[in-house]
Amino acid sequence: MDTDCLFCRIVAGEIPATVVHETDTTLAFRDIDPKAPVHVLVIPKTHHPDVVTLARQDPAVSADLLSAAAAVAEAEGLLADGFRLLFNTGVYAGQEVFHVHGHVLGGEPLGPMLAPR
Ligand code: 5GP
Ligand code: ZN
Repeated sequence: MDTDCLFCRIVAGEIPATVVHETDTTLAFRDIDPKAPVHVLVIPKTHHPDVVTLARQDPAVSADLLSAAAAVAEAEGLLADGFRLLFNTGVYAGQEVFHVHGHVLGGEPLGPMLAPR
């Protein structure tokens, strides 16, 4: 655990979150500032700053994270109409929390993948 990390503190139960799915290695909880009707963050319980670090350091947990995202999408009723799974990574993507998290977004048409240039 990184004691300075917001999401490690959520995993540790020190900061409350609305948990929707949990496994031995992953946790999923609702985003505090949802950008869509369904906006769930899916994280590994272990600290990795971003998806590149996670993929390199722990392929097994990387697979667990994808499975957890799929389980969340199914539980939230997103499979029929589709959804977006997004990993902001680094400065250009505007990553704000440096504990890797996949955003599961859905519940309505999400519009273009990126803002118009
Ligand atoms: P990023 O920009 O790093 O990809 O996304 C960080 C996300 O974390 C944002 O969507 C933001 O709303 C969410 N977030 C920030 N602080 C908290 C918090 O304390 N609890 C929850 N549930 N989400 C948070
Ligand atoms: Zn962390």
